[in-house]
Amino acid sequence: MKFFKASLFLLVVTVSGARAQTTRDAKMDQFISSLMQKMTLEEKLGQLNLPGAGDITTGQASSSDIAGKIKEGKVGGLFNIKTVEKIRDVQKIAVEKSRLKIPLIFGMDVIHGYQTVFPIPLGLSCSWDMPLIERSARIAATEASADGINWTFSPMTDISRDARWGRASEGSGEDPYLGSQIAKAMVKGYQGDDLSKNNTILSCVKHFALYGAIEAGRDYNTVDMSRLRMYNEYFPPYKAAVEAGAGSVMTSFNEVEGVPASANKWLMTEVLRNQWGFNGMVVTDYTAINEMIDHGLGDLKAVSALALAAGVDMDMVGEGFLTTLKQSLQEGKITQQEIDMACRRILEAKYKLGLFQDPYRYCNVKRSKTEIFTPAFRKEARATAAQSFVLLKNDNNVLPVKKNGTIALVGPLADATENMTGTWSVAADFSKSVSLLKGLTNAAGKQAKVLYAKGSNLTADSVLEANSTMFGKSLRRDNRPADVIRREALEIARQSDVIVAALGESAEMSGESSSRTDIGIPQVQKELLAELLKTGKPVVLVLFTGRPLTLKWESENVPAILNVWFGGSEAGDAIADVLFGDVNPSGKLTMTFPIDVGQVPLFYNHKNTGRPLAEGKWFTKFRSNYLDVPNDPLYPFGFGLSYTKFDYSDVKLSSTLLKAGQEITASVTVTNTGSKEGKEVVQLYIRDMVGSITRPVKELKGFRKINLKAGESQEVTFKITEEDLKFYNSDLKFVAEPGDFKVFIGTNSRDVKEADFKLQ
Ligand code: BGC
Repeated sequence: MKFFKASLFLLVVTVSGARAQTTRDAKMDQFISSLMQKMTLEEKLGQLNLPGAGDITTGQASSSDIAGKIKEGKVGGLFNIKTVEKIRDVQKIAVEKSRLKIPLIFGMDVIHGYQTVFPIPLGLSCSWDMPLIERSARIAATEASADGINWTFSPMTDISRDARWGRASEGSGEDPYLGSQIAKAMVKGYQGDDLSKNNTILSCVKHFALYGAIEAGRDYNTVDMSRLRMYNEYFPPYKAAVEAGAGSVMTSFNEVEGVPASANKWLMTEVLRNQWGFNGMVVTDYTAINEMIDHGLGDLKAVSALALAAGVDMDMVGEGFLTTLKQSLQEGKITQQEIDMACRRILEAKYKLGLFQDPYRYCNVKRSKTEIFTPAFRKEARATAAQSFVLLKNDNNVLPVKKNGTIALVGPLADATENMTGTWSVAADFSKSVSLLKGLTNAAGKQAKVLYAKGSNLTADSVLEANSTMFGKSLRRDNRPADVIRREALEIARQSDVIVAALGESAEMSGESSSRTDIGIPQVQKELLAELLKTGKPVVLVLFTGRPLTLKWESENVPAILNVWFGGSEAGDAIADVLFGDVNPSGKLTMTFPIDVGQVPLFYNHKNTGRPLAEGKWFTKFRSNYLDVPNDPLYPFGFGLSYTKFDYSDVKLSSTLLKAGQEITASVTVTNTGSKEGKEVVQLYIRDMVGSITRPVKELKGFRKINLKAGESQEVTFKITEEDLKFYNSDLKFVAEPGDFKVFIGTNSRDVKEADFKLQ
C-alpha cells in the first residue's frame, strides 16, 4: 500500500495578532491544499464528522454500520473505541477502502490515566506537584497511544467553585493560577515536544468555556457572567493550555452571554483564535450541536450552520454537519470557505500526528502488550496517589496507625475495588484495582490483623445507590436491615485497637450528570460512624469523594480524617502507605470545603464587598453574612496537614517598592519543627489594595513544594514582578496599576504571614 509522504521541513511565519501557536508548516499547508483539491464537498463534510465507536467489535469492523460510512468518506475520526486490534481494523477500512485513503483520528476520554489510573484530576491537583502531574499525563499518553489512541479529551480546565457540581472531580479546582500551571503540565505530558512520535497524543482543552460556572451546580445548566470575571477568573487555564500548544479545544454545553458555546462566534473565533492565536481544531462536546435545538436556537440545519460559522470544526456524534451543511451551503447560510477551513484544521491535526506518513503509527500490537499497566507505571501511580491525599484532621496523632494489634476496617468503600479509579476511567479494568482492604491487608502482613465488615450500604435509598454506582461500579448492595449490617461492624470494632472507616461517595456520585444538593456523607454512613465513635476506640475516617463535602459534624467528632479522593488503580496500596506512615501526607486542597452547602459557591479569592464581616466574627447585622452559618469555610483553599509540623518566619521583602520593569523578592524561612521528614507546599498570595475595578481579597501568585527533614529549615524566595500584579481592567486591557499591595505567604490561604509593598 502507498501512503502519503510528508517531510519535516518547517517554515516559521507570524500570524498577525496571534500570540500563541503561530508557527506554520509550509510543507503541511501544501500537502493539505493539494489533498483538499481532490476532495468532494461530501468528503470534506465527512472529515468534520466524529461518531462514537457504535457497533464495532474486533474482527467485525468491516461489517459494521460505521464501516459503511468510513468507506464512503463520511467519517473523520472515532472516539472511545478500545484496543489496538479494533483500531487497526477500522483504520484499515479508512486507508484501504475509502476513495482518498485519509486516515482516521482516534479519540478517547483519557482523563486521569489509561489502564494505569491516576487519582481523579481534583485529587491530582492537590499534589501541587507539576512534574508529577506532567508525568502522569505522559504515562497516560504512552499507554493510550500503545493501544491505538492518538487524541485525548483532556485536560479539563474549567474553574470549579461549586461543590454541588459533580464534574468538579474532573478539574483542578477553584484557582486560575494553579489551574493554569496544571493545564500547561498536562498538555506537555500528553503532547511532549513532538506530536508525531508514536507515544505522544493530541490534547483537547475542555470545556470551552465557563462550564464550571453553571447555575446551582446543576449539570448542563445556564451560565451568565461578566467579561471581567471571564478574563480574570475563568479564562486563564484555557488560555494557558492553548499557549502550551494544545492541539484541540472542546466546546462546552453551556451558553455564554446567551449563546451556547458551540454557536458562540465571539468565543470560538474572536477570543480563542484572534486573541489567543489558537490554530488547532475545535470539536464540540457530545451532541452539543443538536442540543442547541433545545436551547432554542432553531432546527438541526440552523444550529449546525451556526456552529460552523462560529468556528467549530468537528461535530461529535450528532451528525448535524454531515447531514445539513450541504443544504446550508446551497442556501447561502454558510460559505465554502468556512467548510474548507474546518476540514483543513482536522487534516492538519492528522498531519501533525504523523498519520499521513503512517496511519498505523499508533497501532503497534507489540507496544500494547508491553507498555500498558506495567509494574513501573503502577508504582508511579501508587506514589502519585499518595501525594494527592489531604490530611484534614489528626488529633492526638491518631495517624499514622501502628503496624501491630488489630485494625477494624469498615465501610461501604473499604472493599470497593471497582470504585477505586473514580469517575471517567473508561479504559480501566476495574477488577485490577487495589481496594483498601487489599492494600491494608498486604501492608499489615503478619504484623497486624485486619478485620473487615461493610457496616452500611452507600445510601439507605436503593434508587440513589443504583444511580450512583453505574458503569460497572457496583458496591454490591446488602439488602438486610441497616442495623443488622451495622452490628457486624460494631462487633469487629470492639475487638480492635483502631477503627478505619472507609466512607463517603461512590465513584459515580461525582462526575458528569452527578450533581448533588446534599454534599454530606450519606446519612446511613454517618449513623455507622457515630456508632463506631461510641465504642471509644480511635477512629480514622478515610474519606472517598470526588468533590468537597460538608463535614462539620465529622470535623467536630472524628479524631482523624484523611481525604483520599479516588486514588486510581493503586489507591488501596497508596492509602495503606499513608495510614501506616510510610508516606507522610502533603496534599493541599484546591477547592474550599464549606461548612454548609448553603454557602456554595465558596472560594478563597472572592471580592470584599462594601460590607465585609470583620475577621473572626459570625453574625453582625447589616454586614454581608448569614444568620445561621459563618462565612468561613470548614477547610480553606490550600489547606492540608502533615505528620510533622512546619513553622513559618515573618515575610522578608527585598524592598517595599517595586518599580515597573524591575523585581522584588519575598522570602520566608520554613522550619520542620516536628519529628518526621515531610513535604510542604509554601503558598504566595497577593492582594491589590486599591484598583480601578474591585480586586479579590487574595490571589495565589506562586507556590513551592519543598521537602524538609525533621529539624531542617529552608528559606523560600519568590520573585514578584509587575507581571504578577496584572489583571484585566474594565476595557479588558491586561494592566498593573501602581499603588499598594499586600503579599501573604503561608501554609494555606487562611494561615499566612503578610507584608506590604508598593508598585510605582
Ligand atoms: C463530556 C466530555 C467528554 C465527551 C466524550 C461528554 O459527555 O462532557 O467531557 O469528553 O462526553 O466522551
